[in-house]
Amino acid sequence: MSFYEMSFELTNKCNLNCLHCLRDKSDMRSSISTGLFDSILKQAKAYSLQHVAFTGGEPTLHPQFDRIVDTVVAYDYTYHFVTNAWNFLSVWKMLNDPAHPGRMHKLSGISISLDGANETTHDFIRGKGSFKKILQAISILRVKGVDISVQITVNKKNFGEIEQMAMLASELGLKRLFYAHLEPTTLAFAQDLVLSPQQYREAEARVEKLKKAMKIEINFSLGHHEQLPFFQCRALTMYSPNIDYKGRLSFCCQISGYRDADDEGLDVVADLNTVSLFDAHKAWADAIHTFNLDKIELIKNNQLTELDAFSCYYCSKYFGKIDWMEKFPDNPWAQDVLKTRHTHRMKRHVPGRKKP
Ligand code: SF4
Ligand code: SF4
Repeated sequence: MSFYEMSFELTNKCNLNCLHCLRDKSDMRSSISTGLFDSILKQAKAYSLQHVAFTGGEPTLHPQFDRIVDTVVAYDYTYHFVTNAWNFLSVWKMLNDPAHPGRMHKLSGISISLDGANETTHDFIRGKGSFKKILQAISILRVKGVDISVQITVNKKNFGEIEQMAMLASELGLKRLFYAHLEPTTLAFAQDLVLSPQQYREAEARVEKLKKAMKIEINFSLGHHEQLPFFQCRALTMYSPNIDYKGRLSFCCQISGYRDADDEGLDVVADLNTVSLFDAHKAWADAIHTFNLDKIELIKNNQLTELDAFSCYYCSKYFGKIDWMEKFPDNPWAQDVLKTRHTHRMKRHVPGRKKP
């Protein structure tokens, strides 16, 4: 179901500085303009778009988050957002403004990031006071019957708490729980948070067991080990286009604005400030086609490595997001990158961008 939903990185602003954060913090702080946002949603009507998702940075820090939500409501889409809950009370007040009943009516859920089964682990990753704020937000949302999902990024610090985190989510009465692999960054390497490939597999196996044992809905998010080499994720099937805070359509938010990588990377497909959604869609279809042809060639020549089975890791490597790993030659991820990084890269022109 292509273009069922659209995902917006509303802003690169954030009130936290999590140790595992994927996003580049050196870029100037900015947010998508409300004019461009409105124009994209208007064009998306032609696709019978149903749903809008907000990520960031911290999406609620968009300086006109209320207006953004009202635009979604005006176009009759549903929406949900990912949040670190630091700002939750003021956002909740805005959403419940009686003058704007559509804000709650069209809200389909809130996804909260949790990174430990206890305050010590979680706050080590996300900063002091974060755990308490999350528990407060969850208790308010539960009373109001809002659909809550929690996402946990598994790393060396919380690896021993995978099962306790499921217990905590169950005790908190959450509807669903997602585990995700950490996307490696220089900071995560420096903090010794990055698990080995074997530990990635172990985490997946433990989550698989939890799925069977627990009543709460549990899933591993994108990026887990894939049996089929020609796996097509939601981004590759164009289910949900990703628009970044600069108004650019990119492959997906998993690798967008990657810390220590080129911001003008080839995962950026088109600039919606200068081209229509339809032309951006064509460029995206073209880019996915090239991506797939490259993958088929690798399969044909038996050139995929064992670690390429981690789908988001494969993309990080393919799009040159983790070339910096050469600084860590003893690490198994880095050894894989050094072995294969230059064998496949799409070369093409991005519509809306000046030719070099
Ligand atoms: S992980 Fe999310 S909440 Fe944490 S610093 Fe990055 S954008 Fe902010
Ligand atoms: S990084 Fe690649 S595999 Fe992962 S969600 Fe994005 S396009 Fe899909």
